Amino acid sequence: MTDGGDGADGPGEGAGQYRTRIGDRELAPESLMMSYGYRPEWSEGALKSPIFQTSTFVFDSAEDGKDFFEVAYGLREQDPAETPGLIYSRLNNPDLEILEDRLTVWDDAGAAGVFESGMAAISTTLLAHLRPGDVLLHSEPLYGGTDHLLRHVLTEFGIQPVSFPVGSDRAEIEETLDRLDGGRDRLAMIYVETPANPTNTLVDLEACRAVADAAAGDGDRPIVAVDNTFLGPLWQHPLDHGADLVLYSLTKYVGGHSDLIAGACLGSEELLEPVLGLRTFMGTMAGPWTGWLVMRSLETLKLRMERQTENAVRVADFLADHPAVEEVHYLGHLEEGTAQQEIYRRQCDAPGAMVSFEVDGGEEEAFRVLNALKLVKLAVSLGSTESLAEHPATMTHADVPPEDKERMGISHAMIRLSIGIESPDDLIADLEQALAEV
Ligand SMILES: *Cc1c(COP(=O)(O)O)cnc(C)c1O
Repeated sequence: MTDGGDGADGPGEGAGQYRTRIGDRELAPESLMMSYGYRPEWSEGALKSPIFQTSTFVFDSAEDGKDFFEVAYGLREQDPAETPGLIYSRLNNPDLEILEDRLTVWDDAGAAGVFESGMAAISTTLLAHLRPGDVLLHSEPLYGGTDHLLRHVLTEFGIQPVSFPVGSDRAEIEETLDRLDGGRDRLAMIYVETPANPTNTLVDLEACRAVADAAAGDGDRPIVAVDNTFLGPLWQHPLDHGADLVLYSLTKYVGGHSDLIAGACLGSEELLEPVLGLRTFMGTMAGPWTGWLVMRSLETLKLRMERQTENAVRVADFLADHPAVEEVHYLGHLEEGTAQQEIYRRQCDAPGAMVSFEVDGGEEEAFRVLNALKLVKLAVSLGSTESLAEHPATMTHADVPPEDKERMGISHAMIRLSIGIESPDDLIADLEQALAEV
């Protein structure tokens, strides 16, 4: 989101080419979500980008085809005045290119890549930037799919994952690294999920960047990558706090209607280049229809996330006062003067819509509440228009060993809520009747 020009003449032009200002006034991301990255004259004046449901693109001449392939396969540097041509939808497609430009706006990123799932974005990014022998230092707990990828897939390729608990300070993260043989020299990436699922515990991104800086020595600095699915892209901007790459499951808040699976990776053009290159050869890009649906969703992203957060504040306050609730884990309820509250102030813009709480009792009482909910649906996933509830200990975190669950604070009395855009009074009424079952 850079200059104020609007002279782009085709999808694939740099993201700096679209109107982002009126005079001196910088337009807000929500004002750009309906149009940024697209020009009606490309498509018979269509206000909305069509779905470019095509596998391949016709070249004007054989010379054009040769030029496009040379750039796409990195056989020569792209001429600054040159428009990268459309070739084949595994390499590029207008719906993905427009969406990628549009996504960069929220995080003020240099480049973005869109994938057919959050896991496709994460796995392609990690494989693009890690090599055998590398250490991958990561926060714990991680999303279950990511945890499996690190422990059971990347280890087969000689990559060593090493975890530090969320809530660790810089010294504790460095101690973890220094316990490894040649840890600092082998450190290639610090991978963080904050807030952690399902406890909402925060990781200090500036501390992670300081660890990466200290490990750099004379060589390359390790990359700091952040899965920003739980607060982004509205309420937390990791690139402003020292991160190099931001990852999303677009399935969650960004898609927001529980009707698609998609993912994204954002960062500098330099760091995205190997990721997009590997995406072409692994074929993990999203299809045009998914890209189009995500664009549709981006138009209402801010409206939805604001309403979800307002509702979550109401629900969390209600739960905190309820006699059948032991404890509420919500970013809006962090205690003043604690290290967590200090990180929240620095790093987050709002508490989001994920609320976890413990009922008075254990699994049996938690299940009674879950089975009694009427408006709130019993399902995993999050960030959508409808409210969802689940039991982390036996569902999303079922394969975390019991002793690790205890260490991470995932108790059998815990219920995780993702709050939607319904009437907050209806949500509270539903929770109230369900909690009467405890
Ligand atoms: C859902 C999720 C993922 C995986 O995304 P998919 O779109 O399901 O592949 C990764 N990280 C977090 C934090 C998630 O919630």
